[in-house]
Amino acid sequence: MRSIRRGDTGPAVAEIRSILVGLELLTTAEPAVFDDALEGSVRAFQQSRGLGIDGMVGDETWGALDAARWRLGSRTLFHSVPDALVGEDVRALQERLLEMGYDAGRPDAVYGARTARAVAQFQREVGLVPDGSCGPQTMKALRRLGRKVVGGRPQWLREAEAFRQSGPNLVGKTIMIDPGHGGGDDTGVVVPDGPLRWNEADLVFDLASRLEGRLSAAGMRVHLTRGPSPAEPMSGAERAALANTLGADLLISLHLDGHESASAEGVATYHYGTGNGLSSTVGERLANLVQREIVVRTGMHDCRTHAKGWDLLRLTRMPTVRVDLGYLTSKTDRERLIDPQSREQLVEALLAAVQRMYFPVERDVPTGSIDVRQLRLALADKG
Ligand SMILES: [Zn+2]
Repeated sequence: MRSIRRGDTGPAVAEIRSILVGLELLTTAEPAVFDDALEGSVRAFQQSRGLGIDGMVGDETWGALDAARWRLGSRTLFHSVPDALVGEDVRALQERLLEMGYDAGRPDAVYGARTARAVAQFQREVGLVPDGSCGPQTMKALRRLGRKVVGGRPQWLREAEAFRQSGPNLVGKTIMIDPGHGGGDDTGVVVPDGPLRWNEADLVFDLASRLEGRLSAAGMRVHLTRGPSPAEPMSGAERAALANTLGADLLISLHLDGHESASAEGVATYHYGTGNGLSSTVGERLANLVQREIVVRTGMHDCRTHAKGWDLLRLTRMPTVRVDLGYLTSKTDRERLIDPQSREQLVEALLAAVQRMYFPVERDVPTGSIDVRQLRLALADKG
């Protein structure tokens, strides 16, 4: 078609104006005349899209304008072959996925296979059917989580970026495991059981040691924040400082819960976030993975993932999750926690979650499906 240019009038000009107003590159849709203001705006648009800058709307610029009219959520997005969906809504989706730490590839506004895989991974982690298409339910989940990254919190974008750049392999990564409490009188939750007394500090130390063994075997460098019976109690800030000093890539803090009601039970995870909706996106992802792996593998009651501003979560410079692995005051949870075999199951769920944090998108798998006994083989196989 002939380029639409300065001096032209008519419905096509009106449409171009209205798209550019939507993009905030033009202040008013009136009049339906290709005037100087419109030409300036077309040039700005061409520059922003890497097109030839001539101030006229030919086929290429028209195609880009047409793609630009789509707003995220105004249509269902899916991977279509061979004619991929293209649009500003796809670009917005890709940018949001990248902000949240998913590898959606370069934000090129084209809904290709890589974008679909990133969407599927996101869906799996929030408990939706991982079909790789972005419809109303997925949009709802994105909006819910997306609010937390509005305004591009630089710290968390950097955290997500650093994490992405650190590569897919567990080998050589440093992980800090933080068994809660311990030291002096700080035993955490204590529950008498006949002649025995179970306490949180000892049980989480046992869990931490088991996890340490499994992660070391998988090639990670593992540190614990404390030994079995430290002389002094440690604050959350001290534990965070230790992890920062060691330059840990991840931190997992292990606790148990207790409640005056014996019917309170289940597993909960916590990542850094504040009441006004700001959140550590990679930390939230780690918390979601841990929560879902444990719930799926053990059938424990799902007390969900929550954002908290606790020192340990706030002061650490790496993705950090705190897991409350059940209520020592609940008979169901206590029986699980005092049984070494069930503790091993909890450790395997944690191991699977850590592994999934480092899986490239192409190799991510459904929750509960990683056979952690095969981890070593999978790593060897990757070279
Ligand atoms: Zn505790």
